[in-house]
Amino acid sequence: MPRILILGAGVTGVTTAYALLKRGYQVTIIDRHRYAAMETSFANGGQLSASNAEVWNSWSTVSKGMKWMLKRDAPLLLNPKPTWHKYSWLAEFLGCIPDYENNTVATTRLAIESRRHLFAMAQSEGIDFDLERRGILHVYYDRDGFEDAARVNNLLQKGGLDRRSVSAEEIRSIEPTLTTKLFGGFFTPSDSTGDIHKFTRGLAEACKRHGATFLFDTDVLTIKTGNQVSVEWRPTDDPRSDPTTLNGDAVVVCAGVGSRQFAAMLGDRVNVYPVKGYSITVNLEDDKSQESAPWVSLLDDRAKIVTSRLGKDRFRVAGTAEFNGHDRNIRSDRIRPLTDWVRWLFPNVSTSRVEPWSGLRPMMPNMMPVVRQGKRPGVFYNTGHGHLGWTLSAATSELVSDLIDSSRRRGPPS
Ligand SMILES: Cc1cc2nc3c(=O)[nH]c(=O)nc-3n(C[C@H](O)[C@H](O)[C@H](O)COP(=O)(O)OP(=O)(O)OC[C@H]3O[C@@H](n4cnc5c(N)ncnc54)[C@H](O)[C@@H]3O)c2cc1C
Repeated sequence: MPRILILGAGVTGVTTAYALLKRGYQVTIIDRHRYAAMETSFANGGQLSASNAEVWNSWSTVSKGMKWMLKRDAPLLLNPKPTWHKYSWLAEFLGCIPDYENNTVATTRLAIESRRHLFAMAQSEGIDFDLERRGILHVYYDRDGFEDAARVNNLLQKGGLDRRSVSAEEIRSIEPTLTTKLFGGFFTPSDSTGDIHKFTRGLAEACKRHGATFLFDTDVLTIKTGNQVSVEWRPTDDPRSDPTTLNGDAVVVCAGVGSRQFAAMLGDRVNVYPVKGYSITVNLEDDKSQESAPWVSLLDDRAKIVTSRLGKDRFRVAGTAEFNGHDRNIRSDRIRPLTDWVRWLFPNVSTSRVEPWSGLRPMMPNMMPVVRQGKRPGVFYNTGHGHLGWTLSAATSELVSDLIDSSRRRGPPS
């Protein structure tokens, strides 16, 4: 069977490895970290959310974004320092506004399809990842916000999602810990949450059991194509050593925000921009905090904050979009709005032990994942999942595996 090299052991790389192993391929996964899921797939918002499938390419998001740029603690922050990548990406983002409806509907369908594969993988490999199948509740504080959301809801329903509007009273019965005055919301009972890091690590162990080879602590330097695909690498902790070459029959680029650079080496354009986000994991150490933190996942559309309950003693809160290149620093002024939000909505939850994190969303201008074959033979992409990689990757890994299957059936190019 052909040997497939997979670049990146985040959620997209590991789900791709699993899908290919199930189809009988030999698989080698390469990552610069010592373990799987150490970059963007480490501590995200946790939502498996078809209900968050709306793409951001709309004039309404652009006008909110412009207002937010004037506020330091706003959910969006753009470093105005000019870089060609940032501004050309933003121009392309605006150019995708006409595709808003079609892309939102297509993302919803993909997210619904993805659940089936993700649950099947977890079940057949016995992966415990703090899955909570209690639905996702979007909440609104005023009529305007709620009515805007109703328009989006029509598109999500067109994509096949079972999602209904709920009154403030219904919200309280769905999630009793939420006592703040609200106007209303939308509830998606079929959505769920879980710990992306636990899932990906568990699936990586399953891949090993099914025969995959993992090369960790391995920095990929270049990729070349010819009769075979050749990847040059060296150990991450020995940057002066001579590179080693590894050959395979095909490569799948799943390198998150590193995918753009690899695509350029292969003559392709994958215009991923690193859109930074932050999360806090609130450790629920006492009974009162455990009782007062919500179990149903929330999306506060005004604050652009999502939450997940990860077992009895962890509450994850995530948000913000920052356009500031590959900067991974954790800024306290960006973390504070997340902690303040918890204190405001859930005053009985202790925030004395909070773990902050930042990650870079690999975002395409049209907000759609890149699942395609490259220009050169043996090159494939499964990347650019942006704000929804956890939600979508179990489906896109099947799609890229279908492409590899069909290119194999067609045989080498003449
Ligand atoms: C704050 C925040 C909240 C989010 N919340 C949600 C959510 O609630 N639901 C949801 O669906 N999605 C969410 N996301 C998005 C989701 O986390 C990402 O889409 C997903 O993790 C991306 O996975 P990936 O495998 O593409 O990238 P990564 O997980 O970053 O994996 C890429 C891997 O490639 C490796 N790599 C790159 N370059 C090289 C190289 N040169 N050599 C070797 N290895 C290399 C890296 O080491 C890395 O491990 C959120 C993201 C953020 C930042």
